[in-house]
Amino acid sequence: MDTTVDAILIEGARKTYAQTLWAFADDLPAAVEQADLALQPNVLWRDASEQHDSYAVLSSLYKNAGYDERVAFVLAEIERLDAEIGDRLPSSEHDHDGDGQPDH
Ligand SMILES: [Zn+2]
Repeated sequence: MDTTVDAILIEGARKTYAQTLWAFADDLPAAVEQADLALQPNVLWRDASEQHDSYAVLSSLYKNAGYDERVAFVLAEIERLDAEIGDRLPSSEHDHDGDGQPDH
């Protein structure tokens, strides 16, 4: 199997796993651990849009866990990605902090 595709699938699963842990298992420490792995610089994303959406999920997760420094880091990364993709996403996709309101 192509290693690039492999890595993308693994990271997609990791994000879903983090969401699942957070939403259903109420195990924030484990979810944060998975989120930290998804933020590693060697993680490959399909494109900037997927990364933007995934980081928005991670931002919300960190916010709920009280990891303010990591929230700030993820939000800064989202802003950087927005400079790349900007208007290609509908505004409903720009809920950076997971509060249900588009952030721009
Ligand atoms: Zn955005």
